[in-house]
Amino acid sequence: MTAQTMEELVSLCKRRGFLFQSNDIYGGIKGLYDYGPMGVEFKNNLKQAWWKSMVYERDDTEGLDASILSSPVVLKHSGHEDTFTDPLVDCRACKSRWRADQLFENNKCPNCKSEDLTEPRPFNLMFKTAIGPVDDGSSFAYLRPETCQQIFTNFKNILDSTSRTVPFGIAQMGKAFRNEITPRNFIFRVREFEQMELEFFVKPGTDDEWHEYWINKRIEWWINQGIKKENLKKIEVEKNELAHYSKRTVDINYVFPHGEEELEGVANRTDFDLGSHTKNQNDFKITSEVMKNSSSTTKLAVQDLEEKKWYIPYVIEPSAGVDRGVLALLNEAYREENVDRDNKRILLSLKPHLSPIKAAVIPLKKNNEELVNLSKEIKSNLQKLGLGRVVLENSGNIGKNYRRHDEIGTPICLTVDFETLEDKSVTVRDRDTMKQERVSIENLSEYYKKYFN
Ligand code: ATP
Repeated sequence: MTAQTMEELVSLCKRRGFLFQSNDIYGGIKGLYDYGPMGVEFKNNLKQAWWKSMVYERDDTEGLDASILSSPVVLKHSGHEDTFTDPLVDCRACKSRWRADQLFENNKCPNCKSEDLTEPRPFNLMFKTAIGPVDDGSSFAYLRPETCQQIFTNFKNILDSTSRTVPFGIAQMGKAFRNEITPRNFIFRVREFEQMELEFFVKPGTDDEWHEYWINKRIEWWINQGIKKENLKKIEVEKNELAHYSKRTVDINYVFPHGEEELEGVANRTDFDLGSHTKNQNDFKITSEVMKNSSSTTKLAVQDLEEKKWYIPYVIEPSAGVDRGVLALLNEAYREENVDRDNKRILLSLKPHLSPIKAAVIPLKKNNEELVNLSKEIKSNLQKLGLGRVVLENSGNIGKNYRRHDEIGTPICLTVDFETLEDKSVTVRDRDTMKQERVSIENLSEYYKKYFN
């Protein structure tokens, strides 16, 4: 079971501290959200799982964390200044603005139903900001609209500082910004978001095969995070809808509460980007047409040792949205269950490695010194295992604690009662089955670790 509506998720997220509307106390800003105490843990866990699979568990990738402010020259050569646009229409009647390709009824304003709309015109989605103390328009930067351009501009730095040879990849996670015309559907379409991107460099001619490899690998990864296979769809992007850099793109769509839409895109960007940022392109047989007059002084190419010539690698890019991942996984994990005839519970049946809190230690009696001290010791020992956040709940209300931890997806709650002082065991309650068992403190670490295998 998933959530029935987006409202159920929005409400849970606010109630339990996953997500808040940004600048809320001043009325909020559309398309911006803040991650609260549970949200930040959950989001970090998701990013960590991605980093583990993309960097630590592979032998052919490196990581990067580049700056967000980007030179206009980079985004000129990447094609973003000219082509990173959405078609904008204005409603002359109610003055609202819409993305022309997202009008539900053709040529009708979704707000007032007027048909008095302007012709679509290209609207660039990049945010601009001044650099330096004088804001005279001559010195500015863009907030990056995707994380990958700095991967391309650092290509040579990374080659020179490591011993990588093609095929290899560079992974990066971080913020991206797009001035979306109509941000909507909670954190699905926002103006400030995070991406997890891998640029995987391959020899031209092997690109189609690597593309298939990454499409399958990424679907498998999302399934391992807890998304049901049947809720993921592989969608071939139509030729006329491909981004300016792409030879072929396959979107991995997810059935969100508001409908099926893109969770991740896996694109074959060819030699477009490295080629665009390379001087003396005439040295290479570059397939993309737009790349001319690069002012970069660098040759972003590698040497083919067998054929003894330089070439610009092709790149396969799996590009996932962190926030869309958060939304999809919250939706997948959401359950509403009858506990008995009169009581219901909501729970997030998250995979333990993603849960914001890994375990809650609850002394049966609030402020009882013996119970609280022992609970603190247990908490501290579990925390030292380094598997994520463990909390102490000193409120004395076991039922309320169980409900809260069900809703935030804590895999286990451990109750320390008066018997614990005698038999050195605690009651462990499992989130999904609600089954309780006594586990000796001595065996707790092993018991706890098993949840993460
Ligand atoms: P869409 O067609 O939905 O606008 P896109 O094709 O422009 O998305 P990409 O440029 O492929 O998106 O970006 C890669 C990933 O970044 C997307 O799959 C998505 O998960 C995420 N992403 C893109 N735009 C947004 C946004 N405005 N809000 C949240 N996540 C986004």
